[in-house]
Amino acid sequence: MKINYEQTFPHYSRSLDFEQLVRDYPPPPEYFQSVMRMPRHELDALKNKRFLATVKRGWEIPFFQKHWGAVGLEPGDIRSIADIEKIPPYTVHDIRKSLERNPPFGDFMGIAPGGDNPIPLVLHTSGGTTGLPRPMLYAPQDRETMTILSARRYAMQGMVPGDKVLVALSLGLSNGGFAARDCLWKYMGAVPVMTGGGSSTPTRRQIEIIKAWGVNYILGFPAYLRHMAIVARDELGIDPHSLGIKALGSHIGVEDRTKIEALWNADCYDSYGTNESGMMAQDCEFKNGMHINEDAVLLEIADPETGKLQPEGEKGTIYITTFYRYGAPQIRFNVNDISAIMPGTCECGSTHKRLEKIFGRNDNMVKLRGANVFPEAIGVAVAEDARSNGEFFCMVDRVGEDARDEMVVMVELRDPAADGAAVKTDLERRLKEVIGVRVTVEPAAIGDLDQHTGTSQTSKIKRLLDRRK
Ligand SMILES: [Zn+2]
Repeated sequence: MKINYEQTFPHYSRSLDFEQLVRDYPPPPEYFQSVMRMPRHELDALKNKRFLATVKRGWEIPFFQKHWGAVGLEPGDIRSIADIEKIPPYTVHDIRKSLERNPPFGDFMGIAPGGDNPIPLVLHTSGGTTGLPRPMLYAPQDRETMTILSARRYAMQGMVPGDKVLVALSLGLSNGGFAARDCLWKYMGAVPVMTGGGSSTPTRRQIEIIKAWGVNYILGFPAYLRHMAIVARDELGIDPHSLGIKALGSHIGVEDRTKIEALWNADCYDSYGTNESGMMAQDCEFKNGMHINEDAVLLEIADPETGKLQPEGEKGTIYITTFYRYGAPQIRFNVNDISAIMPGTCECGSTHKRLEKIFGRNDNMVKLRGANVFPEAIGVAVAEDARSNGEFFCMVDRVGEDARDEMVVMVELRDPAADGAAVKTDLERRLKEVIGVRVTVEPAAIGDLDQHTGTSQTSKIKRLLDRRK
């Protein structure tokens, strides 16, 4: 191979004005004294300015030119954030179409590898459950701001320099583990211990590492945090309380955080982020709704059927608009997660609005004999029953001559000697109350559902198989 000795190589440290970045998006502790407490009128003015800059950037990107042009939108039509509803939302289906139309990275990125003036890029993917994962390229501006937003989260959730943090999030194509690593060592002074999920480092080994190296903070999904504590207690004879974990950083959704907190004797904090947008919202020490990083993202709540914006307190699907992304800005991306804006203010002094918990995914929702059923809600009811270890899996089938829709909920029981028939009766009654339709409960032994859920292997747990499709 012939080497071109004149080739330009981009340097990461020169790719961005880092001092400007931290003025624009202050990390902790500056964040606590500035943007976090910014008066609403100032914050709204900042949002408006950044929104208009984002729309301007959108007009440079073919995906938005087409999507907006199709409804007759023209540059100049959007004069302030009050005009936002003129902009048509899009979903993951539009992103998939863009990827098919313009392989391999679609026409929504606005950046591409190589070229005359290359910029440093990193690729991660969504943890999609259908088809190939969706690629996402991050330019330095995108990556670094995401990293700062994560730092705000961890600092608000009690992490300090010197903490040793077990990152039990997947390593590989997905963003989860790497985004945490970037943040912990660049902006927190905390030490990432990159065990990854159970498929990277067996759970028993993770617990040995916690004990040996004095890990005091864990990042992981709820099911894996539960699994780890139970493996420590039941398989290794180690009381999780003795491990000195001070906090758990998670994405709780509708899971019961008090169960996880009791297992570890540690606070468990909620947060909301996606591959497209980084860390968007996190709860503070009061654990009462997740503060939205309003200087960096705009979250709208819309009726899933009509697209009409919902008032505070009303549930709907989330539309994401990013203010900080140069590559692949998101402008009214209907991410299909269901939540609501929480009315009122928080004792911590943040002026940023709060998002309620994530109630589930609109496209995870199953129609069962006329009722809308979220597997996440089933999980809460299962976890409430002390006879189960919280592991469950739902299977939906069309059965019989009358093609009746039936759901079977398999539930792992903690104790092999437990009265399965009693659990079945009680849980079937409870689930009828919670979800409004009758389902069949089938007790299972510990570990039996792993083949369906992948709990010991992956941080992205599967809870549902719809076999009607
Ligand atoms: Zn707060």
